[in-house]
Amino acid sequence: MTFDLRVSGFRLSRLCKLIVLASTIVGMPTAVYAQESMPSPTEARDRDVYYPNSESLAPDEMRVIACGTGMPTTRAAQAAACFLVELGNGDKFIFDIGSGSAERLSSLQIPYDYLDKIFIGHLHADHFGSLAEIFIGGALMGRQKPLRIWGPSGPTPELGTAYAIEMMKNMYTWDLAGRVGIVDFRGYTIEVNEFDYKGENAVIYENNGVTIRSFPAIHSLDGPVSFNLEWNGLKFVFGSDTYPNKWFNEYSKDADIVIHECFVAVPDLVTKMRFTPEQALVVGTQIHTAPEAFGKVMSEIKPRMAVAYHFFKDFDTTAAVNDRIRTTYDGPLSLAEDFMVWNITKDEIRVRMAVVEEATWAPPLAGKPELPGGDSDRAKFSEGSGVPVDALQYSDFIIDGRWDGVDEALRGVYKEASEAMGREFKYPGD
Ligand SMILES: [Zn+2]
Ligand SMILES: [Zn+2]
Repeated sequence: MTFDLRVSGFRLSRLCKLIVLASTIVGMPTAVYAQESMPSPTEARDRDVYYPNSESLAPDEMRVIACGTGMPTTRAAQAAACFLVELGNGDKFIFDIGSGSAERLSSLQIPYDYLDKIFIGHLHADHFGSLAEIFIGGALMGRQKPLRIWGPSGPTPELGTAYAIEMMKNMYTWDLAGRVGIVDFRGYTIEVNEFDYKGENAVIYENNGVTIRSFPAIHSLDGPVSFNLEWNGLKFVFGSDTYPNKWFNEYSKDADIVIHECFVAVPDLVTKMRFTPEQALVVGTQIHTAPEAFGKVMSEIKPRMAVAYHFFKDFDTTAAVNDRIRTTYDGPLSLAEDFMVWNITKDEIRVRMAVVEEATWAPPLAGKPELPGGDSDRAKFSEGSGVPVDALQYSDFIIDGRWDGVDEALRGVYKEASEAMGREFKYPGD
């Protein structure tokens, strides 16, 4: 299994040395145990890390990247729930978009047109808190198409995904109103696909050989769901948050990789999160899945790779999570942290960490840029939002406050651009 490849690789090389040594002693031929040649002092060699955009995905391969594995309170070391699934057919899917995760996604430098499909398991902030960032920031950095979102209904319309997204859009009315007409606005729209949270392994997405199904989860209130994705004989499961449940056990069967929450161990909830013991016991075992329960679930499902996430993974907390899981599960296990990467084929699951850039700009554009739509975009926005067209530009009062002392300097910028591009850029108002 790949999760301990580094360990087994290390053991293997030591074993080879021992065999070579032993065979020398007893006179056995050594050729069959030959190790790879010695490293060159000058040539590049493979590294056991993943550098984004440096490896092609094979047609039969799935790559999963953790872009958030922590808790509702994001911290520099960990964003909240987000997993990116990339398939060898070119499709990419985001499962949950928890607080802070848009920043992790940006570090992968994937064109935003390819990051247009987001599946939200439930509407806690740590599972969709970064939605506005990828909605607005992603459009600014090159998404030229609507952001598509799939999420569950709730027991009432106000507790469903469509309502949450509508309210988010309303919250950003001023932001959007200030951009419309000035920038290519194609990416600043959202398409919501709300589906029944009670669907049991119900198909919610089917295209290009990929089928995504949802099934109910048990967490806080009615509404949360978990997902499975099947493509090309591979099966990925994402739990979002849930108490162990019968649906998860059933619809995760035969999965290659199963990602399930595994909450902070109860004693650490008391000492590190300052919960009362009463609160720690309820939250840590009844609302969420305790490490011991995570292990039971995985022993039932027996995936090729079990992935535990949703705990702060520190030097002094990881051992407790691992030890508690190991009281109930002895199979393949990854204790996830941000930027952990799984490459999955039918033959192998390879686990590594990604090495990413932090100071990233816009990734390449996947489509041709378009000029801003100006007044026609404003008219459309006005119709949809109810904001009068007049309010979508500065009033005379504000325009009167502009200081023309910078005029000459800014005309210079236009002149410079005109000369560089070999075409005339008219200064506004001329
Ligand atoms: Zn939750
Ligand atoms: Zn959560």
